[in-house]
This record gives sequence, C-alpha cells and structure tokens, in this order.
Amino acid sequence: MSNKDIKKATHHVNQNEGLIFERSSPGKKGYRLAPLDVPEVDYAKALGSSARADLGNMPEVSEMEIIRHFTRLSTWNYAIDLGMYPLGSCTMKYNARVNEYVARFPGLANAHPYQPAEVSQGAMRVMKTLSDCLLDITGMDAITLQPAAGAHGEMTGILLMHAYLQSRGNPRKKILIPDSAHGTNPATAAICGYAVENLKSNSRGMVDVSALAAQMNEDVAGLMLTNPNTLGIFEQEIHKIAEILHQKGGLLYMDGANMNALVGKTRPGDFGVDVMHLNLHKTFSTPHGGGGPGSGPVACKKILEPFLPKPVIVEKADGTLAFDYDRPKSVGRVRMFYGNFGMHVRALAYTLANGPDGLRQTTEDAVLNANYIRKKLEGDYTLPYQSPSMHEVVFSDSIQEQKGVKTGDIAKRLIDYGFHPYTVSFPLVVHGAIMIEPTESESLEELDLLVDAMKSIAREAEEDPEFVRNAPHTTRVKRLDETAAARKPILRWKPASAKSAGD
Ligand SMILES: *Cc1c(COP(=O)(O)O)cnc(C)c1O
Repeated sequence: MSNKDIKKATHHVNQNEGLIFERSSPGKKGYRLAPLDVPEVDYAKALGSSARADLGNMPEVSEMEIIRHFTRLSTWNYAIDLGMYPLGSCTMKYNARVNEYVARFPGLANAHPYQPAEVSQGAMRVMKTLSDCLLDITGMDAITLQPAAGAHGEMTGILLMHAYLQSRGNPRKKILIPDSAHGTNPATAAICGYAVENLKSNSRGMVDVSALAAQMNEDVAGLMLTNPNTLGIFEQEIHKIAEILHQKGGLLYMDGANMNALVGKTRPGDFGVDVMHLNLHKTFSTPHGGGGPGSGPVACKKILEPFLPKPVIVEKADGTLAFDYDRPKSVGRVRMFYGNFGMHVRALAYTLANGPDGLRQTTEDAVLNANYIRKKLEGDYTLPYQSPSMHEVVFSDSIQEQKGVKTGDIAKRLIDYGFHPYTVSFPLVVHGAIMIEPTESESLEELDLLVDAMKSIAREAEEDPEFVRNAPHTTRVKRLDETAAARKPILRWKPASAKSAGD
C-alpha cells in the first residue's frame, strides 16, 4: 500500500468519526415495531401541553450507524481492561470477572428493593455476610453499607461522631485534618458544620504528634486521618494519636481509602480508630470511575452503633434476617433503600474468592509492587520522603523542573507510552507530586514497561524538554484548555449547524 492509499483508507475511518448528527436524514430509524393491533392513540391529545412538538436536533440514523457510532466512541476510551492505571490514591485494580458473574445471578440482579424481607433473604444474607467480613477485616463492631462512595462515607462517619458527642452534651466545633489529607476530608468536615483546623506533618511525612497534642482540646470533635496516609506512609504513632484524642474526649476517624495496604495485616479497630469508611470500589475491586456507582461502607465502635443509619439488618432467633427500623438514635437514612447493592455483591464475591490468605497476599503484592517501582525510579525522580512506602509511592518532579518540565507534562507524555497518567500534583505537601499506585493486579512485565516509560521520559526531559512539554503527541486530541474545561465545560456535542445557536 502506498502512503496515498493509506491516507485514503484512514480518511474513510476519520470520515466516520463523531458524525452521527451529520449522518442523520429525516425518517431514518434504528428500530422497527410490530404492526399496531390496538386502536391508535393521538399522543398530542392524550398528553396535552406535556406533548413535545418536535424532537429538537435528535439524529435520525439506522441501527447499524448508531451501533458503529457508540462502538467507535468506546474504542477512544482508556480502560483498566486495556492497560494499567498507575493512578495513586485510587487503587485502580483489576475488576475480577467472577464478581460480574455473581452480580448477574438473576435472584440478585432482579431483586427489587420493595420486595418484603420474607422473599429477600438471599439478598439480605449477601449484605449480612459482607458486613461480617468487613467487620472482621477492620476489627470494628458495627457497620452500615448505605453510603454510596468514600466521601459519602466520610459524611456519614462525621454525622455519627456529631450525634455521639451531641448525646454527651456538646457536639464540639472543630475537626483536625493533616495537611496531606485528601480534599474530601476538609470538605466533609465543613459540610457537617465543623471548622477545619490544619495539622502539620513532620519531616518523615507523618502526623506531628507533639503538634497534635498542642492543638487537641475540648473544642475538637476529632481527627480525620488517612492511614496509610496520602504519601503512602503508615502512621507509625497511630496508637499515640488515638490516645491523645481519647484523653480529651475526641474521636479518631480513619479514611480507609488506602486499606489496600492493610487488609489481612492489621486492623484499624485494633489501633484505636473509632469510625472509618471503606471504598469498595478501591480495595474490594468493584468497578471504579466512569461515573458508575461506588460504595463506601462505614464501620464503627460500639459507642457509635446506636447512631448508625437505619434500617440495620438483624438476625432473628430462627436464623432469618430482618430490617430493624426501630432505632431512635439513628442519624436517619443517608441513601435510598440499602445502598448500592450490586457493589455489595461484587465486593463479597471478591472477598470470598480470595479468602483470608488471598486477601493478605493481595496486600503484600500491592506493597511489593509499589516498592519495586520506588526502587527502580529512585535515581530518575526525587523521593521527597525516605519513610518506607506502603501501597503507593510519591515522587517529586524537582529534577525535571530544572528543565522546565513539570509533573503534568510527564503525565501527558506517559499517555504517549500507552499508560493512563499517574496522579498529578497530589498530595499538595509534595511540590510537583508524581503519585504512583500500581496495585497488586499488575504483573512484573507490566511494571517494567511502566518503569521503562518513566525512565525514558526522564531522559527526554533532560535532552528535549520542549518535546515533553508539548506532549501528548499520539492522541486524538492535543492538550486541552484545562481552565476552560473546568469553568466552561461543553457537556453536549452539537452538530456544526446548531453550534452558533448557543452553548
Ligand atoms: C478516593 C479517596 C476518597 C474519596 O472517595 P470517593 O469514593 O471518591 O468519594 C477519600 N479519601 C482518600 C484518601 C481517597 O483516596
């Protein structure tokens, strides 16, 4: 094939891109209905003023055209099923197919939330068994599966703390949050009506225990702490931290988003945590990203149990399960029905498929993978903290910055190498953070490819910084205007003819 032929061929492909509106022609349909065998209804009359006079600019296309359109769009996406997501803090692990298989069992997939408990025993048993497993894993006493995501779990947990402190006479005013925290932590504290007080980290990237002792008083409801923290470092003085809080009547909230580093090895309930959330869509391998549903169960100690959202599942003497709504101290519902049940099924499938030994192995492999990357890239990128890494490693771009290449540029160049970018500029305590979390899912071969790509980019930044600054070079679209994308997002594609008409 000559270059010209190739151009012609790709022209055909390109002609097909995103043109579903332009392909539209009046009267084309992507469906066919059986002939009418009942009297025809005049919709305009039946619906009155609710009837729409015209469908606006909806494309009219054939079934095959619409299928090609969406199939083509799906190939433009990056996905965990295509390659690695080294996206630190997000635990983008493989979503095991056994989870999907189980989630499609008709009795579970078709269960209706309004079904009475007598005919929902299987679904309720799934929730009860998952609850018991998560309590075992976290070392806590009681749990709710209602929250829909991590941030939602944080809110639920802080509401529990508030209700408990209120029941003792004073909900208090402040919540302490380390400077390395995930942005959702201060947002949660604020939305629950607390003032946020910043807590400094020490030179090892951990909570400065003497600063905590100085800041802790009877106005402080508690501390929100991620462990291992967002630098991927385990808070070695967690016992002491819990003690300082408890001595002054405060509570320790643990953001459990990083439990992938702890499952099967140590339990927050054993190191002084009073309440915590889990991200089933991180640690427990349910799908994550792309706007799908998440799940953020909240586990707590006995003292907080009366305040849990209702209903809670209880086991009756005859072994059947029931929903208990008689919870006078409950903070109420935080989510309709019982939370994102499909995620509970997947998380339980993952947990049971692995078993205790498998889960422990998962944790060890996740930590091993992160440390492999740390060791391999140590010379090429700056390591701002020397403390041991757990499940993720955070570098800084300070070597590359001398050539004007920043973490965002390196991340964009990584796309050219076929990887999803790592987490850029987070946590904020690291200047130009490069945050990598490989998870246990990736093989040695895949890790080596990532290491090679990162090393190669470090070389490029040295020899041809301009080239890295202009990356990506191989993608469908070049660098986007990130400010405009955030401030003036175009959420709907419109045909060229309709573009002048508005947004
Ligand atoms: C992901 C994450 C959250 C928020 O969880 P969502 O499910 O995205 O709401 C909170 N804290 C940390 C440390 C996280 O990594």
